[in-house]
Amino acid sequence: MVERKLTLISLWVFLTADIASKMDSLSEEEAIKIGLQDLSKLLQVPIQTLQDNLIRAKRISWNKEQYTKGGYSTRKIGNPNLRKELGEPVDNKLFFAGEATAYWTDVQTVHGAIESGWRTVSKIMSAKL
Ligand SMILES: Cc1cc2nc3c(=O)[nH]c(=O)nc-3n(C[C@H](O)[C@H](O)[C@H](O)COP(=O)(O)OP(=O)(O)OC[C@H]3O[C@@H](n4cnc5c(N)ncnc54)[C@H](O)[C@@H]3O)c2cc1C
Repeated sequence: MVERKLTLISLWVFLTADIASKMDSLSEEEAIKIGLQDLSKLLQVPIQTLQDNLIRAKRISWNKEQYTKGGYSTRKIGNPNLRKELGEPVDNKLFFAGEATAYWTDVQTVHGAIESGWRTVSKIMSAKL
């Protein structure tokens, strides 16, 4: 008797910006189909083979998740100062923090968000309110 080994592969794909919005506008079924088509091209495996072996697929729309309402920021090419501008206070009264404003450190990350919080607290402390 031939013993068959079951191999499970979990594959994650992250999409950002306009492509993420486009995928969010599709039904989950359509989005997964596009994902399989891309994977089929990438691996050069017929899409039917992928579909036959697919156990489960799920599309998560971070913009629609109640406690997330987004993922992390992605800057378009051509505006290198955008994150800095986004973090500028308004009239030295309204202050901003968050990974999207972390222009000098690790953007798109939890530690970038924390460091932006430290920077903003320091700005508030030195502001003449
Ligand atoms: C799938 C995924 C995987 C990730 N993996 C990693 C990882 O491995 N390591 C890492 O360092 N980072 C990771 N990140 C990124 C990390 O989660 C973010 O960089 C970090 O959470 C940003 O923190 P923040 O405080 O700037 O914003 P957020 O954590 O996004 O906080 C913003 C808050 O504002 C709320 N909000 C939004 N709009 C409104 C509104 N209109 N009114 C009221 N509240 C609102 C949201 O609900 C949210 O609670 C990941 C993100 C995603 C989506």
